[in-house]
Amino acid sequence: MMKRVRGSYALALLSPGKLIGVRDPWGMRPLALGRLGNSYLIASESCAFQAVGGTLIRDLKPGEIVIIEESGIRSIQTPAQKGEHFCVFEYVYFARNDSILDGVGVYDSRVRMGQLLSRVLPVEADLVAGVPDSALPAAIGYAKASGIPYEQVLLKNSYSGRTFITGGQQNREQSVRRKLSPIRGNVEGRRIVLVDDSIVRGTNSMYIVRMLRRAGAKEVHMRIASPPVQYPCHFGINTPTARRLAAAHWNVDQLCEKIEADSLAYLGLDDLYRAVGREKAGACGGEGFGGLCSACFCGDYPMRVGK
Ligand code: SF4
Repeated sequence: MMKRVRGSYALALLSPGKLIGVRDPWGMRPLALGRLGNSYLIASESCAFQAVGGTLIRDLKPGEIVIIEESGIRSIQTPAQKGEHFCVFEYVYFARNDSILDGVGVYDSRVRMGQLLSRVLPVEADLVAGVPDSALPAAIGYAKASGIPYEQVLLKNSYSGRTFITGGQQNREQSVRRKLSPIRGNVEGRRIVLVDDSIVRGTNSMYIVRMLRRAGAKEVHMRIASPPVQYPCHFGINTPTARRLAAAHWNVDQLCEKIEADSLAYLGLDDLYRAVGREKAGACGGEGFGGLCSACFCGDYPMRVGK
């Protein structure tokens, strides 16, 4: 299968006598090996090991198959693709803050994104806040680096799903309202720097900015801890087609107006690479990839996409 299937996947397969982990030859999706007592564990994120009291051993390599059976554990290394292409969006949004991916702590990388973001279009404000949950570390990093106090302005209902992957416009609007509510005392009369991890359709950002204004915010300055998402993902992530991606249609000023913010700024791709501890040599793609896929930001896909 691995010779024939082109794309990203991470598999955990069970048979009566075996547990098998498979990571795609591009290493796009994470897959890790853990231990619990005498047992081995396979999961896409190390936070799953912590949840059951286990520990992370290591990440599987791109193209690696790990077979765990009664007699022990063995690994088969199938030919990996030239260069690894780990999904940088895992660090930006998908992964949980307490996971370690390819040796890099997700929380720490997000704090660094916020620190680097604070240098882009600095603004005078009363407080820095993040959109829960994935943007909170970036907001903390932003506050640390800028010296503007960190406060929480949005409370998250932990029983709601992720809006990014919710289908349908009306659904999404309702789920933003269900998911977040403003903490009025921290919002009223304040100039707020609001950090989010990304803008996909732009609608969520608009609802959130409106929600804060209704709660009395004096100014809302959106800061995004990743570059503009201009291209669709073809590797299993449910981003919309380019037609629906806000940054594919509007420049930063136009998008700022659409989401009704006082100002808008994004983290640059070089800084994103820096935050996850990789070097991006030259243009996006090819040899300059730095071991990451960042195609949704730069349009340079690590493999042929479509039919
Ligand atoms: S296109 Fe974006 S979301 Fe998809 S795998 Fe690449 S970096 Fe990740």
